[in-house]
Parts: sequence; C-alpha cells; structure tokens
Amino acid sequence: MDIDDSPSERAHRERVRAYLEEHLHSLVRNAPADPESPAEVERYRRTQRLLYEGGLVGATWPVEYGGGGATRMAQAIIDQELAGIGVPPLVGQIGLGMCGPTLIEHGTAAQKRRYLGPILSAEEIWAQMFSEPGAGSDLAGVSTRAVRDGDGWRITGQKVWTSGAHYSDWGMILTRTDPSAPRHRGLTMFVIDLRAPGVEIRPLRQMSGASAFNEVFLDSVAVPADAVLGPVGEGWKVALTTLLNERMAIGGGGGDLGGSIEALGDLAAEVLPTLPAERQAVVRHELGRLQVRALACRWTGYRRLTALSRDEIPGPEASAGKVAGTALARDIVKLAVSLLGADAAFAAGADGSAHWQHVRSLLPGLELAGGATEILKNVLGERVLGLPREPRPEPAAARDAEHETAGA
Ligand SMILES: Cc1cc2nc3c(=O)[nH]c(=O)nc-3n(C[C@H](O)[C@H](O)[C@H](O)COP(=O)(O)OP(=O)(O)OC[C@H]3O[C@@H](n4cnc5c(N)ncnc54)[C@H](O)[C@@H]3O)c2cc1C
Repeated sequence: MDIDDSPSERAHRERVRAYLEEHLHSLVRNAPADPESPAEVERYRRTQRLLYEGGLVGATWPVEYGGGGATRMAQAIIDQELAGIGVPPLVGQIGLGMCGPTLIEHGTAAQKRRYLGPILSAEEIWAQMFSEPGAGSDLAGVSTRAVRDGDGWRITGQKVWTSGAHYSDWGMILTRTDPSAPRHRGLTMFVIDLRAPGVEIRPLRQMSGASAFNEVFLDSVAVPADAVLGPVGEGWKVALTTLLNERMAIGGGGGDLGGSIEALGDLAAEVLPTLPAERQAVVRHELGRLQVRALACRWTGYRRLTALSRDEIPGPEASAGKVAGTALARDIVKLAVSLLGADAAFAAGADGSAHWQHVRSLLPGLELAGGATEILKNVLGERVLGLPREPRPEPAAARDAEHETAGA
C-alpha cells in the first residue's frame, strides 16, 4: 500500500489546489449535497462548469469526448481536494459517475457525441432510473414495460427513489421488453427525456427534511429507436456497468461521514467532565474503539486508492468499505446521541444545523443506497470468502449465474 503521492501525483495535486484557490469565492462550499431550489441548482451547475473548465471534471474520460484521458488516481486526487475545501458532491454526479461511464462502454458513436459533453459541463443532468416499488435489491424484478411503437418505443410504469429527477434532463431507464424471457434476459436500457409528455415526477420528502429523490410515473412515454442503449434484451449487462461504477464511486471506505469521528471527539471532550467518573471510563473506552475502527476504515480506503493508482479496478472487496463505513457511522452517531441525551435534537453543528440529528436522519438511506448492507454482505460472503450461495427465488437455469442481486 502506497500512501504518499508520487512526484507526478504531487504536481497534479498542486495544480488542482492552485486552480481551486484561484476560484474559491465562486464555488459552492460547505453546503448540503442536494440543491433544493431552482436557484440553488443553477449555482451548483455553475460550480461544476467552473471545475470542468479547469480540467477537474471527467479526468478519466476519453479526450475525444471532452475528458482528461488521465488515470483514476488523478480523479481521486481531485475528489480529495474538493472534499478538503468543502465542495459538496457535484450536481451532475450521477451522470459523471454512473450514466456517462455506461454510455462510454455501451453507447453508439452518435449517442456518445450527443450526450457526453453536456454531462461534463453540467449543461444537462442525468438521473438513474433503476429502482421500482417491487425491484430494489432484486433489480431483475423490474416491471416497467417498453413496447415497440412503429420505429420507436413506448414506456409505461413507475420508478422510485430516483435521485435528482426533479432537476434532471435525461434518465437512464431499465425496462422490461420481453416478459416471456428469463428475468435477466428480457430487459432493455433506454435514454429518456425527462420533460417528455407522459413523464410525471413527484418529489419525496425524507426525514432529514431534504427532498433529494422522487417517484417517477411513466404513462406511454414515446422514445425514439435511437434511445436504446446497448442491444435490445441486454439491459442487465448495461445495468451491471452502471452498478460497478456506482460501487467504485461509493466504496471508498472513508467511512466516517465526513469527519464525524473528529466531531465526536470534540463533543466528548466537552461533555466528559460533566459525567460521573464511572461513566467517563465507559465513554473513553467506547471512543477508543470507534477511533480504531475509523482508522481501519481510512487505511482500508488507502488500499483502494493504491489499486486506483495502479489503474486497477477494485473488485467485490470494495463492498467491505461501504459495509464497515456505514456500521461505523451508525455507532459514532449512537455514542454522540447518548452523550447529548435529549439535547441531540437541538445541539447545533458548526454550520448552525442540528448536526447529530441531521446525520442520524441520513443513516438509514446510506445503508440502502448503492447496495443494502445485507446484499453487500452476500457479495462479500460469496465472492470474496467463497461461502455457499444464498438460495435464489428462480430455477438456476433461468438466471444469470454471476450476478443475481444487484442493489441499484
Ligand atoms: C439516498 C438514496 C438514493 C437512491 N437513489 C437512487 C437512484 O438515483 N436511482 C435508483 O434507481 N435507485 C436509487 N435508490 C434506491 C436504492 O437503489 C434501493 O433503495 C436499494 O437498491 C434497496 O432496494 P429497496 O429500497 O427496494 O429495498 P429492498 O430491496 O426491499 O430491501 C429491504 C431490506 O431487505 C433486505 N434484503 C433484500 N434482499 C435481501 C436478501 N437477498 N438477503 C438479505 N436481505 C435482503 C435489504 O438489505 C434491506 O435491508 C436510492 C436509495 C437511497 C436510500
């Protein structure tokens, strides 16, 4: 494991820092991950555009489509520097991290020419439309139908948990085109215009107070023939590319929810002297254990960075970063809330928010998004530890032997 920058990585980091320093005042910083109002969406778009103009977006994408043609490590360094100055995830992150790479791998030349540039510059924002009320972890159960209509298609059904759909221009949508085929074989991926007639987007309010994702209803939405992404009937293969990229984007194993272990240390230093001596010893012990786990997560994350610096793609073991990171986050918040007692609902963070309350309200979503904990444990058990496979709902002949559950 290498944790120091190589000379060329150091030079790249310095260039990134210099650009960020120069444009610091124009960037959205220390703000929530999800823009709430149209004006905020515009500000977030401008931040992404500015970063793109400085070569800090799409570092790994092919040069011919506007990317930097650089290594994954170059992008990881940019991400570290952005996080270091408090820039929230980019407004186009789903297009950049998932839909764009899927277009690069499966799109036609015309689709790449049409869609990739505007994803980089945030001129167009994309949503990932996989999950449905009856298909989440068991993604192959998708029932949204696409049927042929003349040269094109019509799509009817419902998607749910579609992050950012309310301000997105395009969706990458997984549909069923052949209900008589085995579940994984009858699927097709499309590109869909989210402003087309028949698309209805209803934001869902989360317990954190934010409205980051939506239900999307599709009523016989017309899509042209050239909106099919990858071959008809091979949508599962296309979806796996998206999911692999999603796993790479969130499997980092930083695991401490952006400095929460440090925030917990500050809180404990404040509260400890007010506690009875015997409780102080218990809290110190707990705090020590959490610090050790946070360090383990961070160092495991460095292993992933080492793989990236060699331009290797992290394998199924990347799932461990998310499993360990979310479990750690939950235990950090649990200790913080027990220290604060009822005050946890009101205790203000540095930015004036009820910090612990807010983080706590995000946790259940974190455990589900990008593959639920139980699903990732199955992946680790079966594909890393070589344990026997989970029983599956379908006869073996009818399914894809490698990837049964996906977890969008
Ligand atoms: C913040 C957030 C953003 C999201 N954004 C998007 C998005 O942009 N686009 C999109 O398409 N989807 C999105 N999702 C949906 C996400 O992909 C799903 O929540 C996830 O795949 C789980 O599916 P589900 O919610 O239907 O839960 P289910 O699959 O119904 O799971 C419910 C519970 O059952 C457990 N479970 C399920 N199957 C098994 C099994 N075989 N063994 C053991 N336990 C099991 C799960 O671990 C979980 O605890 C988002 C979700 C969140 C929380």
